[in-house]
This record gives sequence, C-alpha cells and structure tokens, in this order.
Amino acid sequence: MKRRDFLAAAGLGGVALATQGLASCATGPKLYADKTYNISRGYQFIPKLKLSKDRIIKETVGLRPFRPSGPRIEKVQLGNKTIVHNYGHGGSGWSLSWGTGNLARNLVKETYEKKIALLGCGTVGIATATLLQESGYEVTIYTKDLPPNVTSNLATGTWSPASRVCDKAKATPEFETVWEDATRFSFRRLQMMLGVDDIVQWTDEYSVHKSIPTSTDGNGGKEVFHIEGLAPNWNEISRKDHPFKADLVRKRSNMIFNIPSYLNFHLNNFLLRGGKLKIQEIKTLEEIDALPEKVVVNCMGLGAKSVFNDEEIMPVSGQLACLIPQTEVNYKLTTQGAYFITRKDGIYLGGNGIDGSWDTTPKRELTEKWIDILIDLMKDMKG
Ligand SMILES: Cc1cc2nc3c(=O)[nH]c(=O)nc-3n(C[C@H](O)[C@H](O)[C@H](O)COP(=O)(O)OP(=O)(O)OC[C@H]3O[C@@H](n4cnc5c(N)ncnc54)[C@H](O)[C@@H]3O)c2cc1C
Repeated sequence: MKRRDFLAAAGLGGVALATQGLASCATGPKLYADKTYNISRGYQFIPKLKLSKDRIIKETVGLRPFRPSGPRIEKVQLGNKTIVHNYGHGGSGWSLSWGTGNLARNLVKETYEKKIALLGCGTVGIATATLLQESGYEVTIYTKDLPPNVTSNLATGTWSPASRVCDKAKATPEFETVWEDATRFSFRRLQMMLGVDDIVQWTDEYSVHKSIPTSTDGNGGKEVFHIEGLAPNWNEISRKDHPFKADLVRKRSNMIFNIPSYLNFHLNNFLLRGGKLKIQEIKTLEEIDALPEKVVVNCMGLGAKSVFNDEEIMPVSGQLACLIPQTEVNYKLTTQGAYFITRKDGIYLGGNGIDGSWDTTPKRELTEKWIDILIDLMKDMKG
C-alpha cells in the first residue's frame, strides 16, 4: 500500500491532504513555535521511557461493559419504580460519562420526582449523580464498591468516545445521533475541568509505525464513529523532524484523565454538596423495589447484566501494566503491538481487548511483550 492509500484507509485522506501543504510549506515556523523542537538537534526532542521489568508496579485486567447495540439509555417502568438505565459504555465510558449522564438526567426530569436513587459509583455513576445534583435533585448512591475497586479505575483514561461503543452492524441508525449528542456534551464539560488539580489534561499523542499498520496493530481502540473538527486531527511529521526510527509518524493532541484524582475530586464534591452514599449490593429486582426512592438511575456497568437480565451486555477484557511514574514524560504513544499513556500515577502500557472474556488475571508475558516492543522503539530513538 502506498502512503496515500494508507492515509485514505486510515480515514485521514482529506485531513492529510489538507495538512500536507501546510507541513511542507510551513515546516520552519510551525515547528519552531513548538517548545520541544530543539534547534541544535534539528528535530523535535522527546524524552524516553525508562523501561525495565523491575519498574512494573501494577498489572490489572478490567472488563469493558460492551453492548453491541450501544449503551442503554432508557426509561422503563418496573412496578412502582421508574428505572432510568445508563450503562454499557464499552471502551468509552470515561469519555461519554457526562454526555450520557445528561441524557439520563433529561429522562429523570420527565418524572417530576426530586429524590433519586442511583446505582453504581464508577465514572458513569459519579458524573450522572453530579449532573442530577446540579439540577436540584437529592441523590443517594447505592453501590457494591467504591473507587478504586471499580472497573473505571482499570481504564487507560484517554478521550476515546467511540472506542468499542457499539458494533455498527447491530446499533440502530439513530444511535449515532445519540452518541454525537453525548460526545459533544462530554467534550464541553471536560474542558471546564482543565486546570482543576490536573484531573483532565491535554497531552501530545504520537502514532509511530515502521510499516503500514493493520487493523490489529496499535491499541485496537476500535473507534467506530468520528466527529470532524471536535478534537485536533492527526498531523504527519516528516522523518527529519522527529527522533523515531520510523517512516510513518503522526502527532495530535488528546485529552487524558488522571483517574484516581478525577474520581476522588468528583466523589468528594458530590458528598460536599449533600449527596448520600450507601454501600449495598443489589442482587434482585425486589431489592430495588425496596429502596425508598421512586426513581432509580442504573449506572451499574457490567453489574446490570444479572440484575436486569440483560443478555446483550458482555465483557471485553483489557490488560494494563503500570510502570513507576516519570514526571518528565508527558505524552502518549501508539506503535505496532503496544501503546502507553503517561498519567500522574504512572506510565500505563496496554494493548489488548478480548471479547467475551471474564478472566481478570493479568498475564505477565503480555506485559513483558509490550515492554520489549517499547524498548526496541526507544533504543532506536535519537536522544
Ligand atoms: C483496559 C481498559 C481501558 C479503558 N480505557 C478507556 C479510555 O481510555 N477511555 C474511556 O473513555 N473508557 C475507557 N475504558 C472504558 C471505561 O473504563 C468503562 O466504559 C467505564 O469504566 C464504565 O464505567 P461505569 O461507571 O459504567 O462502570 P464501573 O466502573 O464498573 O462502575 C459500576 C458501579 O456499579 C457498582 N455495581 C455493580 N454491580 C452492582 C450491584 N449488583 N449492586 C450494587 N452496585 C453494583 C460497582 O460497584 C461500581 O461502583 C477502558 C476500559 C478498560 C477495561
């Protein structure tokens, strides 16, 4: 495949053609304006990762709550209770939490009740509870577990609103409109968190490939939709301007979420504003019926499967390995077979997704494979 075909296959044809002119005629001013461009070196300096097996401090496997038709955002009547569902966000729950939380809030508003029970305390539950509070509702969160013992704590934490959000062949045509509404709402809301204890940050992201990537390379994020113009596009960087030994290098800016501080911040705010929290596992619909509130918002992620007998929802497992934080490294990188993201609490290596797997045991050999791939990449990199 030629470079132009590759860009077209990657959905970048228009963007790349539009930016190609810019890159070739404006290389000097554009790059000199970039703080990391080093005149004496003649290329953009990028700090290297410290990679060794003794720097691994944590390995986890999280289960993405995936529904082929997309997240369930729906109001249903169950006896005397109104249930508002907001679960099943696949690999995009961090990114979409505010947007689907807003859709769930709109459904709650149709009920005219003021006291709300909210099930679940992951990123989706916390965002939805916050939005309900902002609209004057008295919210009690009922949850089996709190952060850090929730799936949301096992995520990479990057802006990826279309990652495994549905199977396009199984979602309704209307779903894309719902997704776009949620994505735009979330994007706006996340910009308001910039500068607040670094819970949300913009960072550089590189895609580094020696040969044309296939669909199974990289992080396999499986982004199924795209909104042109919402977040910055990829820009190709020419060989002489970057330190990697690779021909296909692209760069863009992307948002990351510093997961532990983010969840802590929003949960503390919820409590400060008078929100209530009860540790309670819900196993049956009868237990929901026994709650004092008439309106129940369900943000239990994969936990909704057994309680609401949802046959569609399934796990897509994903392993992450965390290395000791390196404050000087603040970018994200994707390459053939591995990616990493740098957060305040560590350097997170990842790269997989196994459909239907409930196995949460990390595989050391997978972590070591990612480390080896990245060692190879870093050793060839100009310092
Ligand atoms: C490896 C990996 C990487 C990811 N990377 C990203 C990313 O970069 N960007 C992104 O946007 N998304 C990402 N995701 C997806 C994201 O993590 C999920 O979509 C999101 O965490 C789902 O949030 P949630 O609040 O619905 O679920 P959870 O975090 O699972 O929260 C569910 C809550 O419900 C409670 N609960 C469950 N069952 C019961 C019960 N029976 N009774 C009472 N309470 C119950 C739980 O205790 C918990 O509090 C990733 C996921 C994985 C696994």
